[in-house]
Amino acid sequence: MARAIVVGSGPNGLAAAARLARAGLEVTVLEAADTIGGGTRSSEYLVPGLLHDHCSAAHPMAISSPIFRELDLPGPVWKRAEVECAHPLDDGTAGAMFRSFDATESALGDDGRRWRQVFEPVANDFDDLFADISQPIIRVPDHPITFARFGMRAALPATVLARLFRTTQARALWTGIAAHAFWRLDRPMTSAIGAALAAGAHAHGWVVAEGGSQAIATALAVDIVAHGGSIETGVRVESVSDLPSHDVLLLDVSPTAALEILGDRLPSSVAKAYRRYRYGPGAFKVDFAVEGGVPWTADVARRAGTVHVGGDGDEVAAAELAVQRGEMPERPFVLVGQQYLADPGRSVGDIHPVWTYAHVPNGYTGDATDAIIDQIERFAPGFRDRVVGTAVRSTTEMARYNPNYVGGDIIGGAATLTQTVFRPRVALDPYTTGMPGTYLCSASTPPGAGAHGMCGANAAARALAEIG
Ligand SMILES: Cc1cc2nc3c(=O)[nH]c(=O)nc-3n(C[C@H](O)[C@H](O)[C@H](O)COP(=O)(O)OP(=O)(O)OC[C@H]3O[C@@H](n4cnc5c(N)ncnc54)[C@H](O)[C@@H]3O)c2cc1C
Repeated sequence: MARAIVVGSGPNGLAAAARLARAGLEVTVLEAADTIGGGTRSSEYLVPGLLHDHCSAAHPMAISSPIFRELDLPGPVWKRAEVECAHPLDDGTAGAMFRSFDATESALGDDGRRWRQVFEPVANDFDDLFADISQPIIRVPDHPITFARFGMRAALPATVLARLFRTTQARALWTGIAAHAFWRLDRPMTSAIGAALAAGAHAHGWVVAEGGSQAIATALAVDIVAHGGSIETGVRVESVSDLPSHDVLLLDVSPTAALEILGDRLPSSVAKAYRRYRYGPGAFKVDFAVEGGVPWTADVARRAGTVHVGGDGDEVAAAELAVQRGEMPERPFVLVGQQYLADPGRSVGDIHPVWTYAHVPNGYTGDATDAIIDQIERFAPGFRDRVVGTAVRSTTEMARYNPNYVGGDIIGGAATLTQTVFRPRVALDPYTTGMPGTYLCSASTPPGAGAHGMCGANAAARALAEIG
């Protein structure tokens, strides 16, 4: 029986392992941390009984992931908040995106129709679209019309697409969604991630996993073990020479870590490309325990699973430009997760888990906690007084928590134009390392960040094709 080793148990490593195990390989997953899941871990680490997602929170990509469908996993159970995303403004109003286009159209007033015209043609065929965009870009799409519709939107700089809207609310809402690209928003292709996320919200919702994002990792792990695979935690792989013999090696790690693990065996052209690989801005994460929830001025934000905090569209774009240039903005863009609205079991009585992170420069060494609190307080006066617990994870701590978050970059590499199209290097097969049987399968490969497992699934498919 062919033997496969997967290094790293993020959703990509686990999806790769599941596909390999189902194909009949003897699979071992080696994970550095004491628990599996990478960016899908959750725990009650702040207050007993209060469940926080450590990393990923909302899962429009996981729910439509082709590999999760193929595996037909029994979980997770997906839950939805009433409002997908709200973007509060200083005048007390907010932009708001609902799953339903009708509700969004009426919430966005003068821009409602335009919002629908931009996103409905893509949202209608979102699963077909995701099947295409979750593959490397150099291929003939299976759904060319849907893909072309998406491409026309994705290619635009997000600041240009924002000009389609006239109201401050719709412009802010779009810019906040586009800011998930973690890059300056005046560059081509910076609408790609935002357009996919907006379409995913309308197609399925920004669903959360009942019982925390960890449920994604648990479902995959159960499947791996059911198909004869095994998972070892607390094993940090430093070098390929420390590994037992194997036919296939999949690395759910950053290109930087792959350089260290594979060392001199890596062909020099690949090593050079990995060395040049660029990382993006960092995330500074603060989890809160909040009595009574966040007292947003805009009522719609009190009902939203995700709230984007950063002022109007211009202010968000300026903050993103600053962090990309290595400058910490006084008022950073902050993402606030209120997963408990969809999944009330995460709260303890009237104490609720509130998940936040700010976009900061890569490797930022300061403390962004007050900046995050000030930004929330700006749109929710009285928030500070409701906080009964706080846990902080700086960019350095992020990278220590998970070595894939280089300098606190949580999306596995900067969203430059080249790296949006080709990552981790310009190659027909971006997963191969140039070493027989050895593949990179982390979010630094197509289709990039997200708890969808498709980087792992694609790399595993190539490995299976290689070994026949
Ligand atoms: C704060 C935050 C918020 C996010 N929000 C969302 C969201 O809402 N929705 C969404 O879809 N995505 C979100 N993401 C992104 C998502 O979590 C990642 O894109 C996804 O987890 C990437 O999966 P992966 O398998 O490539 O790597 P990871 O999940 O990073 O897993 C890699 C694993 O490999 C292990 N590892 C690394 N090196 C070694 C080694 N040498 N030896 C052994 N093990 C090793 C690590 O410990 C880790 O467990 C978020 C991430 C963060 C941090």
